[in-house]
Amino acid sequence: MKTVLIGIQGAGKSTQGNLLSEKLKIPYLSTGHIFRELAKEKTSLGRYIKEVMNAGYLIPDKKTVEIVDEYLKRPEYKGGYIMDGFPRTVTQADFFKDGADRVIYLRVSDEEALKRLTFRNGSGEQVRADETPAAVAKRIESFHKFTKPVLEYYRKREMLVEIDGEKSIDEIHQDILESLQK
Ligand code: AMP
Repeated sequence: MKTVLIGIQGAGKSTQGNLLSEKLKIPYLSTGHIFRELAKEKTSLGRYIKEVMNAGYLIPDKKTVEIVDEYLKRPEYKGGYIMDGFPRTVTQADFFKDGADRVIYLRVSDEEALKRLTFRNGSGEQVRADETPAAVAKRIESFHKFTKPVLEYYRKREMLVEIDGEKSIDEIHQDILESLQK
């Protein structure tokens, strides 16, 4: 099963993706995580990715698609995956033609996402370099501009499932499991 999770930053994609992965024994993959790892490398690509991410911008489609393509060639993903954070633009979705069976949109309002991120960053956890208020605002803007059309893309193809992402973690998990059985 190839499942894609889409949602604004703070919607709970990685929490739900990991829960789902554990429950269904399907590997979880996050482009955000891949890029954060690449950003640690002291190479020109690493420095470039770090700069783009920390400013809250999307990595260009060409690079993103290249990296995702490379990862999905690995044998562990042959039987399916839970993909978090990709595709985020219509160009990426076009590239990902056979990449998704089901697309789950974790819907939370901008206000709720902001509240969660502020809490996450104010709760004693180390503030992630890409979660400064300016970067978060930029990312919310990018979500509306580039990723909302991706939701439309999958809605038209009747592949989109909308889940209320403002319920409790457990309720959301159950809602996702139910939606996958349909
Ligand atoms: P995330 O952890 O999913 O919020 O991703 C963190 C950051 O990684 C994003 O703000 C982007 O800079 C980059 N990123 C992750 N996925 C993508 C993608 N599909 N396309 C472009 N940039 C991405």
